[in-house]
Amino acid sequence: MEWDKVAAEEFARLPLSKSVKENARLFAEKMARKSRRNRVILEDVDVARKVAYGNVSEEKRQRQLDERVARGETDLRLRMEVEGREILKQETNLFKVVTCTGQATGCRNLLIETEELKEEIEQKLRELKVTEMMADLHRDDEPILAHHRFNVSISGCPVGCTAPEIRSFGVHGVAKPKITDAECSECYACVDVCWKGAISIRDGGPRISKTLCDLCGFCMKACPTGTIVPERQGYRVLVGGRSGRFSQAGVQLFRNADRQTLMAVIEAAVKTIKEEADGYEDLTWVVNRIGVGPIFQRMHYKKEGA
Ligand code: SF4
Ligand code: SF4
Ligand code: SF4
Repeated sequence: MEWDKVAAEEFARLPLSKSVKENARLFAEKMARKSRRNRVILEDVDVARKVAYGNVSEEKRQRQLDERVARGETDLRLRMEVEGREILKQETNLFKVVTCTGQATGCRNLLIETEELKEEIEQKLRELKVTEMMADLHRDDEPILAHHRFNVSISGCPVGCTAPEIRSFGVHGVAKPKITDAECSECYACVDVCWKGAISIRDGGPRISKTLCDLCGFCMKACPTGTIVPERQGYRVLVGGRSGRFSQAGVQLFRNADRQTLMAVIEAAVKTIKEEADGYEDLTWVVNRIGVGPIFQRMHYKKEGA
């Protein structure tokens, strides 16, 4: 989105904190889109300013700034202006992809690479213009806030350190165990590491309960004989979770999906918000109201790994 010089200068001077200003920029650009322009003009900045100020007037804000300058923050206005110019140069998004620290710390439970996946998902969300979508769905008389975002939570294994189960879009790395013909030494290492109690040794070999197993991969890493090996590593995909006051667990869409399926679900979830959200409902609100069926309906290719 282009900015008129005079609009950019006015925006840079707005007496707003960095995070509020970042969202005010998105608000001004939304107003330009609403007027079918690809250029932000002063009028858009004025609307963004009014909404960002809320009940606190320009005079009161300027008075507060004067007091801060008098108390020693002599470069305050200049700092805000520089910050404002930087905000116009940088990328500000209304989506966030969070990963666990497993890859960075060499966590022994890690089943998938997470950093490359994060980048791929972020790129997909950019292509889908999620920031513009979230801003445009938002009301025109309320500031965009930090929680008005499309959030993706990725954990490298079912331990789930980023809590994907209670996020609007959650992903776990998973690995399905396979029992091979390799002779079992009955060492019970697999039984010992299986926190889900899914393994028993019978007739000289392991038995795995499909109901109890959550695809954590611990047993295959512990097995010294190759009797249990990974059959397929992939992604558990959940949608519709939420933390906080109205917390709820998400719904599992896929137990062990491949990468293509994961990316297709993300695209379908975004389309579902775009076409079904009532106002600025997030994915969880939409799923609560209409279920997960519309997400599957928007997946335009053969589903695998369900
Ligand atoms: S989610 Fe799993 S891989 Fe990631 S840090 Fe936690 S235990 Fe390690
Ligand atoms: S993958 Fe994890 S939960 Fe499943 S059987 Fe192995 S250790 Fe147990
Ligand atoms: S860890 Fe491997 S060798 Fe040991 S009991 Fe389990 S399947 Fe058998």
